[in-house]
Amino acid sequence: MLTGKEPAQAIKDEVAERITKLGKRVGLATVLVGDDPASEVYVRMKHKAAAKVGMYTYDHHIPGDTPQGEVEDLVRNLNADPAVDGILVQLPLPDGLNPDTVIDIIDPGKDADGLHPYSLGLIMLERSGGAVPATPQGIMKMLDFYDIETEGKLAVVIGRSRLVGRPMGMLLNHKAANSTVVYAHSRTKDLESITAMADILIVAAGRPGLVTVNGVKPGAVVVDVGINRVDDQLVGDVDFDSIAEVASAITPVPGGVGPMTIASLLLNTVALAETRAEAG
Ligand code: NAP
Repeated sequence: MLTGKEPAQAIKDEVAERITKLGKRVGLATVLVGDDPASEVYVRMKHKAAAKVGMYTYDHHIPGDTPQGEVEDLVRNLNADPAVDGILVQLPLPDGLNPDTVIDIIDPGKDADGLHPYSLGLIMLERSGGAVPATPQGIMKMLDFYDIETEGKLAVVIGRSRLVGRPMGMLLNHKAANSTVVYAHSRTKDLESITAMADILIVAAGRPGLVTVNGVKPGAVVVDVGINRVDDQLVGDVDFDSIAEVASAITPVPGGVGPMTIASLLLNTVALAETRAEAG
């Protein structure tokens, strides 16, 4: 089983060391708009993890009816704040707010979640120097930690969001990973026959039960990104028990990708702080 705890701890230890070596305060600011309970939990977990590695955190929790312009002004203020090295805008934003224009305003040098078009553009070009979206980055680090070979493998990614699916496929496509990537999405026909070809199957749809054992090749590696609340329990997008019988490795939900996402956010933040410190 591919649990996130151990590889996430290894990243967090590295982050703590790098903060000590940097010798200056490293600050992560979060922007949470509205009262979505799941988002509140995620932001709280991020603050807790950041504090544990020695980061300073700045919590901006503003009402859900805050006008677009005020949310954008907050981000501009954080861009200008020398105490802030990384900015994370918790998604999704409430209906009526445009997340694209908010994210576009984040200084790419403080883009802790790696979602700014500049950061994503660097990924498209397989160039270093920008933040890598936290969830896909965490998954790549998890595959690496567990010595899972990606080269020459057929990777099927279900989902093409800015947050997970699209950058995930790009990272697997990079020459550093050398997978052959297929993207599936809500308009994909005969999803099961496509996923059944995958050596590596990444599922990021937010649809519980989307992938059953019939859609998994024996020996495949299955990474379940989905987080869904069903009957007051957190479940992923795949039928864990039956798939665990045939997969060579599978991530649990919770306890799989989630901890890697948080660790990668911290890694991005310390890397951004180092770059800012170097630039003076
Ligand atoms: P999203 O923006 O809603 O995107 C979902 C993607 O799945 C879309 O590309 C959509 O296709 C595709 N999809 C939806 N229904 C499908 C179906 N029946 N068959 C095939 N594809 C389908 O969601 P997201 O932000 O990427 O998040 C996906 C899931 O991961 C959610 O459950 C979220 O909570 C979870 N998540 C977990 C972590 C973590 O750290 N573990 C981090 C982020 C997100 P279209 O493009 O055609 O609409």
